[in-house]
Amino acid sequence: MPPARTPEAEALMGPSDYQTMWSGPLTFCRREAGALIPGADVAVVGVPLDTNVTNRPGCRFGPRAIRTASTQLSWSRHWPSTFDPFERLAVYDAGDVEFDHGRPADAPFEIEAALREILATGATTLMLGGDHFCAYPALRAHSARAGGPLALVQFDAHTDTWKDEGRRLDHGTMFFHAAREGLIDPAASIQVGIRTTNDDPMGFEVFDAIRVHEEGWRAAADAIRARVGDRPAYVTFDIDCLDPSQAPGTGTPVVGGLFAHQALAILRALRGLNVVGMDVVEVAPAYDVSEITALAGATIALELLCLYADGPRAAG
Ligand code: MN
Ligand code: MN
Repeated sequence: MPPARTPEAEALMGPSDYQTMWSGPLTFCRREAGALIPGADVAVVGVPLDTNVTNRPGCRFGPRAIRTASTQLSWSRHWPSTFDPFERLAVYDAGDVEFDHGRPADAPFEIEAALREILATGATTLMLGGDHFCAYPALRAHSARAGGPLALVQFDAHTDTWKDEGRRLDHGTMFFHAAREGLIDPAASIQVGIRTTNDDPMGFEVFDAIRVHEEGWRAAADAIRARVGDRPAYVTFDIDCLDPSQAPGTGTPVVGGLFAHQALAILRALRGLNVVGMDVVEVAPAYDVSEITALAGATIALELLCLYADGPRAAG
């Protein structure tokens, strides 16, 4: 459970002062900016890293694009939520993790250290990527706080559990290492929207895109609930889970994916899940059209906040 909110954290709560979408600060959903605010519930943190992609780079601009698109969502209560997550949670924007792009091998340690600092204040993180590799240092920080392996709820076109020898920084292999190192428990973990071949799923449950289309969003949500139970869960959303028609702005698109409404319906049906950390990754605005990918990323991030606000970890 998070510690009691400080007056500083209480002051973060409530609706945004900004009604226009074209002016004002470009923090996530117009939340206050701050490096570390003790007693807050959630810190939004950007990780502008894309050196670990296997195809097209560009998602280092993802955090900025998601924040900008989020100005379209912060003028009223998130639909169709019956509550405003910002009335339940003290949320601030902690800015971007800083690392030297010329020393890519140091980046995982810097990301982990930055997230550990935030977690030590009692808040959780809503991380905006960056390529999906950044979920690996995030899981290191989150599983350390939880004191054991987490259930991973992964939305993705790719499993990201392909094998490597452990010396590579790669956005397609980090969950192989996370599972091997005991950061996540495959037996409690599930991957939704998969539509690429990996003959060794490492014991993860795979609820692939065809099943979502054939059985529907409710069946996917039921499968997640059954798999995770009440285990502490980290929810990671690779935007390429969505079909390229819904999210073209990403480095490794795969056709046949989820539509945004399916993904949002699944997330809404997970209310009560014991979520301990969240991210939205792989938004690459250079390939986007009319900001639809960034807007999808921002909307999913806000839906994740609603999920957290309605879960057992939310204070008050
Ligand atoms: Mn992917
Ligand atoms: Mn991925």
